[in-house]
Amino acid sequence: MCGVLGILGRYRLDASKELLLLLAHRGQDASGLLWATESAFQESKTMGSPSGLSVQREWSECILGSTRYPTSGRRVSSEDELCDFVGPFQSGAVAVTHNGNITNLSSMTEKDYQCDTKFICDRLQHHLAESDDHLPTAFVRLTSEVDGAYSIVGIHDGSLFAFRDSRGFKPLVFGRSAEHTIVASESTVLDMAHVKLERDVYPGELIVFGPNQAMQCYSISQQDGHKHCFFEYVYFANPAARIENQLVYDVRFRLGRALANRFTRLQLEEPDYVIPVPDTSRPAAQALAEELGVPMREVILKNRYLGRTFIVQSPEARNAMAHYKYIYLDDKIRGKNLLVVDDSIVRGTTAKMIVKDLKKRGAAKVYFAVTCPPQSHPCYYGIDISTSSELIASQAGLEQIRDFIGADALIYQDMDGLVNATGIRDICLACLDGNYPTEHAKKIQAAIQLRDKKQGIRDYEREIR
Ligand code: AMP
Repeated sequence: MCGVLGILGRYRLDASKELLLLLAHRGQDASGLLWATESAFQESKTMGSPSGLSVQREWSECILGSTRYPTSGRRVSSEDELCDFVGPFQSGAVAVTHNGNITNLSSMTEKDYQCDTKFICDRLQHHLAESDDHLPTAFVRLTSEVDGAYSIVGIHDGSLFAFRDSRGFKPLVFGRSAEHTIVASESTVLDMAHVKLERDVYPGELIVFGPNQAMQCYSISQQDGHKHCFFEYVYFANPAARIENQLVYDVRFRLGRALANRFTRLQLEEPDYVIPVPDTSRPAAQALAEELGVPMREVILKNRYLGRTFIVQSPEARNAMAHYKYIYLDDKIRGKNLLVVDDSIVRGTTAKMIVKDLKKRGAAKVYFAVTCPPQSHPCYYGIDISTSSELIASQAGLEQIRDFIGADALIYQDMDGLVNATGIRDICLACLDGNYPTEHAKKIQAAIQLRDKKQGIRDYEREIR
């Protein structure tokens, strides 16, 4: 997961930084802006959120923006690494940023790329050089060689272009006004820029935007079924975003309703409160509370100024950070039956910590409900769950997980509940059922099953040819 942004039409750089901030939740490792001047591209990159980007009140006709979530290459550890690790990238006359993950990178090049976006940019430049600078032909060639998920925004020859892989894993939307065309991972960016959302870029479609709202669409590669990432709805996207015509907030609300059904069937003692784990699960907790006729209370508050615990490498450091992540309203906990709702359990660190904290504060019972079914397979398409060994649901069954987190009951969403709540049929469920929709990912899966699962290496970064 990363955030991408493209702007065509005279726009201020400091204002484009504000737009990029709306995608900060999609990647907090590093951020970048690249813009066209009369003679060249210029860029500004920073570690962490876009707020660190140093841009002036200058204007540009064409701007790209990127927030990075590393699912290929290391995390950025110093300013010196920014140029190799963080998009947008430039190669010759083309500049590119991308959201997704190229699964066959290690089998395509000997070069040690720290970011697959740089690879895409170099390949695109290569294919442009071989095809008389014809962008659609370059994309036909690019898509025939790379496997994985890639929603791309770029600049070429004074135009802005947008491309989405043929399965449409990652979101990409656009809109046009009299002055501006904006392409972004999430529609909230368009709202903020007062540009009306026109539609999603179709899977397999290349759109080249020119001045005066001109736009040319090319069908580059098609698949029978699309595979939109369901986890965008469950976790990644802003609840105010609209993806494939579904408001993410509404999907999360429906996930909560479906969970209420499952909870009722278990005939457990009635909870006193439904409690969201901030922030993603709030709409689901609201729906769950409404369905059960139980009040929702924000008993768990997030310590906003702590960095992200999920990306911390060592289990000890992760546990220590998880401890500082939440603050509790003790008065609403003592002697109560609590139904806690979170969007997912990956390693189980967060759930275990929360249950322990609530019990320590005197909760009578803690039920733990999860809006997503068990994630038992690694994702190769851009979620940072890249080895099965880090997924508790790939190692343990429901009862063992419940026991591990210390809850009195554990209620997971089921597949039907999830699929119905998203409101779309053609979604990628590979991290839940292991059915990877692309060829190279299937190969990785088969090869990994035959090998030792070495800790600390992403499955798709092993050499599998
Ligand atoms: P864990 O503590 O390892 O079980 O991770 C679960 C917690 O991390 C949940 O509270 C989620 O909101 C959050 N989470 C789940 N998936 C991701 C992801 N791919 N990247 C960052 N955070 C995540």
